[in-house]
Amino acid sequence: MNSNEIRRRFLQFFADRGHTIVKSSSLIPAQDPTLLFVNAGMNQFKDVFLGREQRSYTTATTCQKCVRAGGKHNDLDNVGHTRRHQTFFEMLGNFSFGAYFKKEAIDYAWELLTKEFKLPVDKLWVTIFREDEVAAEFWLSGPGLDRDRIIRLDEKDNFWQMGETGPCGPCSEIHYDLGPAASELGHSNCAFPCECGRYVEIWNLVFMQFDRNSEGHLSPLPRPSIDTGMGLERVASVLQGKISNYDTDLLRPTIEQACEIFNVEYGASASSDVSLRIIADHVRAATFLISDGIIPSNEGRGYVLRKIMRRGIRQGTLLGRKEPFLYNLSGYVAEMMKEAYPELIHTREYVARVIKTEEERFAAMVSVGLQRLEDTIAQLAKAGKNAIPGTEIFKLYDTYGFPLDFTKEIADERSMRLDMEGFDAELEKQRERARQSWKGDEGRINPIYEKFIEKAGTHFLGYQAIQSSSRVVGILIDGKSVDFVETGTAAEIVLDQTPFYAESGGQVGDTGTLTSPAGLARVMDTYSPARGVIVHKVQVEFGNLSVGEQVDAQVDEERRLRIAANHTGTHILHAVLRETLGTHVKQAGSLVAPDRLRFDYTHFAPLTDREIEEIEQKINRIVFRNIPVQTEVMEINQAIARGALAFFGEKYQQQVRVVSIPEVSMELCGGTHTRMTGDVGMFKIVGESSIASGIRRIEALTGFGTYVRLEEDENLLREIAHNLRAPRTEITRAIARLLDQQRHLENEVEALKRKAANSQIDTLVESPADIKGVAVVSRKVEGVDASMLRELAENTGAKIGSGVVVLGLTSDGKASLVAIVSPDLQKRLHAGKIIKEVAGLVGGSGGGRPDFAQAGGKNVERLDEALQAVYNIVAELLS
Ligand SMILES: [Zn+2]
Ligand SMILES: [Zn+2]
Repeated sequence: MNSNEIRRRFLQFFADRGHTIVKSSSLIPAQDPTLLFVNAGMNQFKDVFLGREQRSYTTATTCQKCVRAGGKHNDLDNVGHTRRHQTFFEMLGNFSFGAYFKKEAIDYAWELLTKEFKLPVDKLWVTIFREDEVAAEFWLSGPGLDRDRIIRLDEKDNFWQMGETGPCGPCSEIHYDLGPAASELGHSNCAFPCECGRYVEIWNLVFMQFDRNSEGHLSPLPRPSIDTGMGLERVASVLQGKISNYDTDLLRPTIEQACEIFNVEYGASASSDVSLRIIADHVRAATFLISDGIIPSNEGRGYVLRKIMRRGIRQGTLLGRKEPFLYNLSGYVAEMMKEAYPELIHTREYVARVIKTEEERFAAMVSVGLQRLEDTIAQLAKAGKNAIPGTEIFKLYDTYGFPLDFTKEIADERSMRLDMEGFDAELEKQRERARQSWKGDEGRINPIYEKFIEKAGTHFLGYQAIQSSSRVVGILIDGKSVDFVETGTAAEIVLDQTPFYAESGGQVGDTGTLTSPAGLARVMDTYSPARGVIVHKVQVEFGNLSVGEQVDAQVDEERRLRIAANHTGTHILHAVLRETLGTHVKQAGSLVAPDRLRFDYTHFAPLTDREIEEIEQKINRIVFRNIPVQTEVMEINQAIARGALAFFGEKYQQQVRVVSIPEVSMELCGGTHTRMTGDVGMFKIVGESSIASGIRRIEALTGFGTYVRLEEDENLLREIAHNLRAPRTEITRAIARLLDQQRHLENEVEALKRKAANSQIDTLVESPADIKGVAVVSRKVEGVDASMLRELAENTGAKIGSGVVVLGLTSDGKASLVAIVSPDLQKRLHAGKIIKEVAGLVGGSGGGRPDFAQAGGKNVERLDEALQAVYNIVAELLS
């Protein structure tokens, strides 16, 4: 059974039994600061299990893409060396949120394995938690398992918990006996649960039935739930009769593909096999991570991605490959996995570009690192030391990306020791930094805001209104709660309800006024420090405002309209970019302000002028079609199923707001928008740049902003036309004419200068000195450009026929000299040697060929003296 079929039949089996098939979530966890990457099927249901979120279904089934690398679950070092460790894997699972429990979970699992997948019953073994009599009973009564095939294990193996506190419960695992041939210890007759590799765990059923409080006490959950996980690679190995995951159709074809690239054979040597397995796994992980929007970087998730890619590239080097190869394999992975993950086809080109760039960058870094290591070793050797300090090893490894085993190898060759303890200490510090960098914003919230949430929070009215009568429920000055605030004071004000939009999703907060019976406060900004509470940052202009009183809250309407135009414009831009450049375009950030918008997106190349024009035109056509902008609140799954674009890493509620422009765009968005696309007004791109590898930024204007810009352009044109004394339609022609005239004049000046220079020749050749039978002219000239000095000397030389000509001039405070020697004299005299001596006299240097040489110097006042010296120099050279 191939893996596509396994996936399909698993999901269908549970769909037939009333489960909703839910799409795999992105590998980027939705606002879960405890998690680096999604690593289990239940991640996307965490809030449902915790009762914080409701869904329209109570049972679900998924095939979830997962990555385990970095953070708590670090399997990176084992990958390639074992049969089962991978950084990327897929997890099949079925879930019950209070709908069914142990009996059904056990019956379903057994039926799927033995009936649907037809695994022989006598190869299956089951483990349960020591005290779980109920599970034991169901295994006996349902599947009718023999009592001796059910093994009882301790908490360590068969008790699951989400965290220190919260839902937890016993679990039950199903194992498969691969037979004695699979034993890595050569056991021929060992019994389950021997851990020699013969028995492989394929499915874990978790029975969530308790809630653990902070004292460790367990109380029963009101609605016990089911969470199961079956590793796709493992079950594929069983169903395909393979001992190793790497021999299944999920990984082996990539290995074979790599074999072709490196011209090696799989199975030929243990060490090259390890390399091939690492490459096959890492390229899968990199492909999926980049496709989900992660970019290699030096912190957080991007850092782990970079590490995975570099480990893969390094293995290629070990196999003798210097040129990029991983990017090529990523295309192959996309092709292989496209049935289950069609998005890989759309992002294929983009992913390959990102990987190739990283491969090239890494190659460059390695050569720099090598140089640094050589220098370090040389310095240490000079100082009589024989150990490379840990900080240095770490710097090479971390900053220079220089592989550790390279360092080890080279140190070995030079008989240098490595301070690995120091290195480990640095590494631990780095890990701590990495953990910090993805910890999110938790812990920054002033607990005082939480109190407002408990008191029902702030009701947001701003989708319908820009004005409201509201009650002041809280005033904070410097983070402390107060009863009232007076003229000239800055404060934070919380209202029971407000039309003010709090900054989020890139859209800036509203400004406006709060008017009380006794005072007026200007709202400078609005933000939401915690979900459910909206804070107005104010400056009291006059009078005072007190807790409990009614105020008139008024949003600055014109500013709000401009923000809305820019926000709707951003959505249209996003849609048009995807249509024009490809669906690999993903939003990486945005800023929606009243005067401009900024949109960051994943793409690998700068936009051409042609593309910018095309994008602008498409957007403006949509604007002028004046399509209604619709907002709707719906279930998240329904929204995703309809094709709404969601922002990765964003935590969405079960009910989401969807902003759509029919036939153009559909996005999950909480922002304020225009009523019709026509309200966006004219859209103009004013900037396009790169902000990081693989991420580009567009800056644009809409409506009034575009008008202001056009006005500026107009003034500029008018000024140019005025200065050119030409009507605006004639501007380009007038400029062309000016440039033409200028070229003409330049040529004329040049000709005149040449004429003036050459007119001096007659004077120069009048009475050359005779030095031992050689005619020598050494003179200072005036009214000549330095650029024309050579030509003048050559013409002078031509006139005297046989001889030496040295000419000098001063310009811009510098002396310039040239020397030429006629061909018949070049055996005896060398222009370069002459000029070298002369140049010394004017404080400069120079040289050249036997026939021609030139020099310059700063001591202009010694130029005459230098030219006079030429006669003696020539005389000496001739003797
Ligand atoms: Zn064994
Ligand atoms: Zn939006």
